[in-house]
Amino acid sequence: MKTLTDTFGRKFPYIRLSITDVCNYKCTYCLPEGYKKMPGDTRNFMTGEEISRLTKALSELGVCKIRLTGGEPTVRKDFFDILKNMKKNSNIPKITMTTNGYQLDKIAKRLHESGLDGINISIDSLNRETFKKLTGHDRLLQILEGIKILQGLNFKNIKVNAVLLKGINDTYEEFEEFGDFIKNNKIDFRFIELMQTGDNLDFFKKNHVSSKIFKDYLKKNKWVYQTYGKDAGPSLNYIHPEYKGKFGLIAPYSKDFCKTCNRLRITSRGDLRLCLFGNTGISLRHLLQNDSQKDELVDLIIKQLHLKKESHHLELGKTGITPNLSSTGG
Ligand code: SAM
Repeated sequence: MKTLTDTFGRKFPYIRLSITDVCNYKCTYCLPEGYKKMPGDTRNFMTGEEISRLTKALSELGVCKIRLTGGEPTVRKDFFDILKNMKKNSNIPKITMTTNGYQLDKIAKRLHESGLDGINISIDSLNRETFKKLTGHDRLLQILEGIKILQGLNFKNIKVNAVLLKGINDTYEEFEEFGDFIKNNKIDFRFIELMQTGDNLDFFKKNHVSSKIFKDYLKKNKWVYQTYGKDAGPSLNYIHPEYKGKFGLIAPYSKDFCKTCNRLRITSRGDLRLCLFGNTGISLRHLLQNDSQKDELVDLIIKQLHLKKESHHLELGKTGITPNLSSTGG
């Protein structure tokens, strides 16, 4: 079987697949003015058919997990068609998604019925007012309700992500609030260290907090580091005997972050991105036009992988061609 291996020996069983750039939230660190269509942009995101061809090719390359992302993946009208088709026809064992959960209470049952294998929900604050200020939407309660519905359906793989932000969620009291949330709740709660992107330099300078503060908290409170599997995401996970849920930390500025990189990104317009902060996007679109192109597509992806760099050098402020994560697929 063909596999995706780069020149540094890293393997890539995990793809983050964006299906739209559009997001309905206005997160202060990502799209503070909301999603704006650029002049001339036709929003020609990959069609369901193109996505289907792509995922079949990826399965031939040993990919065993695809995370649907965006933008906000659920704003796409054919979101459930895409998901169901992937579950039925792609041969990829795990299909998961990242969402802001804005209609989770309404779609939880359908997500479960569609066979989704895992969900990451972004909740930067458990305080309703703060949540509203950060996202522009007073939706926290409905999202929490959606999580309860998923749990009632025995949906197993639920993760909550929060971006670590100065003055918002970076104190021991706030960490404890999140701890209370996962104490009797089998949910993984992970902090993502705020990343600089092309558009957010000022915000980044004012609001970036090193992930060390959370690492120190975990150590002080006897959380124990747990190792992870081959298709796991970038999170360092921690367990505690008194908690049903886990804590996690995604620390892209840490020294060896890229050494364990196991994922590639494909944008909603069909560009292969070897790194979230790389300088090139390689279009796959021309090879998604009919089924007979599959072998050519597989070969192109393998060939491009040789260009993957050892590290992103984000610590030097090199954000590549990513203006915000919504445009690339976070
Ligand atoms: N709309 C979906 C959501 O909200 O989860 C998926 C896309 S969003 C870009 C994916 C994740 O990236 C979210 O958890 C979001 O908080 C995170 N994110 C966006 N910009 C970020 C940044 N500059 N640094 C760190 N995380 C960021």
